Amino acid sequence: MSFEPTEEQRAIADTVRKFCEKELRPHVKRWDQEDTYPDEALAGFREMGLFGATISEEHGGLGWDTTTYALVIMEIAGVWMSLSGIINTHLIMAHAVSSFGTDEQKKRFLPKMASGEKRGGLALSESRGGSDVAGLQCRARPDGDDYVIDGSKMWITNSDGNTFFLLARTDPDPSSKHQGISGFIIEKGGAGFEVSRNISKLGYRGIPTSELTFEGFRVPKENLLGDEEGQGFYQVMNGLELGRINVAARGAGMLRAAFEDSIRYAQERRTFGKPIWEHQLVGAKLTDMATDLEAAKLLVLSAASKRDSGERCDLEASMAKLFASRACAKHALEAIHVHGAFGYSTEFDVERYYRDAPLLTIGEGTNEILSTVIAKALARKYAI
Ligand SMILES: Cc1cc2nc3c(=O)[nH]c(=O)nc-3n(C[C@H](O)[C@H](O)[C@H](O)COP(=O)(O)OP(=O)(O)OC[C@H]3O[C@@H](n4cnc5c(N)ncnc54)[C@H](O)[C@@H]3O)c2cc1C
Repeated sequence: MSFEPTEEQRAIADTVRKFCEKELRPHVKRWDQEDTYPDEALAGFREMGLFGATISEEHGGLGWDTTTYALVIMEIAGVWMSLSGIINTHLIMAHAVSSFGTDEQKKRFLPKMASGEKRGGLALSESRGGSDVAGLQCRARPDGDDYVIDGSKMWITNSDGNTFFLLARTDPDPSSKHQGISGFIIEKGGAGFEVSRNISKLGYRGIPTSELTFEGFRVPKENLLGDEEGQGFYQVMNGLELGRINVAARGAGMLRAAFEDSIRYAQERRTFGKPIWEHQLVGAKLTDMATDLEAAKLLVLSAASKRDSGERCDLEASMAKLFASRACAKHALEAIHVHGAFGYSTEFDVERYYRDAPLLTIGEGTNEILSTVIAKALARKYAI
């Protein structure tokens, strides 16, 4: 098996890396510390077409395969993980519209999403629970030509965008809780839809994560995703493979940044008459970081290439996300140790990796949930 990127894939990733290094990196510390929105990133991503990265060319996107997308996410996350969040839930929403939308919905939403004119997000989680998606309380009831939405959503990233894929219960009394949930394309504006609060976070700063509240918010019936009710849970689950590969790629990208910062510092910093990497315990940290980095990258590329071949990759995507997020969180702390006291100061980037990394163990399915997904997939694969 070889997961060597093609020349074209490398060239695309290099272009994005150069943009992020030149135009964004100089501002990242300030944006993070001030929790300021990176408008320059938004403009640059638009220009490079990143809002349409995985949207088909037919609908105005770049039509990238998952491998190219994962390589690009690694580059972006290596500069600042928050930036990758700007396009992640946007593209999962676009995937749902592409896969399950009617022709009219695809024509209406995808070209504008590809250009970044419509910026999407996912409104699934609620304050009473995110892992148990099917336990949601948000209601949608038909009324004339509309559905009327009541309820609230929590932890919604990209809440400054204008379009969301929202899950709500349309059947209050289904035979199983996974049924009777429908997906809606909702747009900001109109009475009854409020971004009720922005949540202050440990890391993943710069882009807003918010609570959305709906009180009698009317959505036209043509915005029910697809043409039948009750498909929402399955529509969301289908997009998770892409989302998990994205999170795994963020982990690998940020781990690379932690390693590169550490190997540089370990050669510059001298104690007891030698560069600190020559002390075996520091050298061993670098060894473990580099080894886990290589493994994380390969798991990401393996999952991405399987998805590109059209096969189901829930096992591979979950394994990649589990490993890369764990390794990233572990080595972000080790990177602080390599830097000593400087690692604890906000002058160096490693403290940011340490604050950003835990999100990767929570988002797109917590690592505990992923362990159960992996165990189920293994039992299926190795069934006796
Ligand atoms: C910064 C940030 C951004 C986010 N962005 C979005 C977004 O854009 N859209 C969106 O819809 N959501 C978003 N989320 C929500 C995220 O998807 C949820 O936080 C996540 O699914 C976990 O849900 P929860 O926080 O309610 O934890 P809970 O589901 O309450 O879980 C609490 C703990 O119990 C464990 N647990 C729960 N059930 C099980 C089980 N069956 N087996 C083993 N362990 C279990 C969990 O692993 C966790 O450790 C975001 C979250 C954060 C922090």
